Amino acid sequence: MSYVFSPAPVTTVPVVGTSDLFPVRRIFCVGRNYAAHAREMGRDPDREPPFFFTKPADAVVADEATIPYPPETENLHYEAELVVAIGRGGVNITLENALAHIYGYAVGNDLTRRDLQLKAREQGRPWDWGKAFDRSAPIAPIHPASSVGHPSSGSIRLTVNGEVKQDADLQELIWSVPEIISILSHSMALQPGDLIMTGTPAGVGPLVEGDVCVVTIEGLGDLTTTIGPRS
Ligand code: MN
Repeated sequence: MSYVFSPAPVTTVPVVGTSDLFPVRRIFCVGRNYAAHAREMGRDPDREPPFFFTKPADAVVADEATIPYPPETENLHYEAELVVAIGRGGVNITLENALAHIYGYAVGNDLTRRDLQLKAREQGRPWDWGKAFDRSAPIAPIHPASSVGHPSSGSIRLTVNGEVKQDADLQELIWSVPEIISILSHSMALQPGDLIMTGTPAGVGPLVEGDVCVVTIEGLGDLTTTIGPRS
C-alpha cells in the first residue's frame, strides 16, 4: 500500500543551542488567562474554569519570518504568549507531577483575526476562523526546561515597530502552567509534541502591513514577526 499523495512534512520548532527539532503534534491555546486582558475584551476575569481553543500544527511560523497579511480580515491582532512544549504525554496529570511533562518553553504570538473572532463570539460560533488560520502561530525556538528551569515569573513584553504595546509579568497568569496542564489532561490525553499557548496579557491591538512585531519573555529571548502585503 502507498499514500495517495505525499503526506505533509512534520511541523517542527528548533531547540535552542542544538540542531534538534521539536516535532509539533497539536497547539492548545488558553483563552483569557490574564485579568486585565479579560477586562479589555469585555469579560469578567473571575476565576472561572479556563477554556481552550486550538490551532493546527502547521500554523506554526518560525522566528524572523515575514508573513502575508491574512485574508478576510481588517483587524489582525498580536497576542504575546508563553508557550509550553509537552515532552511526555499523560492523562489526569496531577498538579504535583505537571512540570515533569514539560520539555521546554518558547515565546509565541497568538495571531488573531479579531473581527472574525468577535463576530463568532457574538453569534455563539466556533473561534477557528478568527484563531486557527494559516500562519497564525509564530513560535520562537524552544528552550529546554533542563537549561532554563520552569519560569513562573518574569517580564513578558511585546513591541510593534519598537513601541511597547504589552508589558506584564508571567506571575499574573490567572491559571498557572501546572494548573493548565492538569486541567487539559483531564479532558484530553496530552501527547509529546503538544504545544500550549498560555494566554495573553492586556494591550492587544492591530498589526498592519510593514509592521515588525517583537515578543520578549525574560530568559526565553525574542520572537520577531514582520507583516507583509496581502498574498
Ligand atoms: Mn491568545
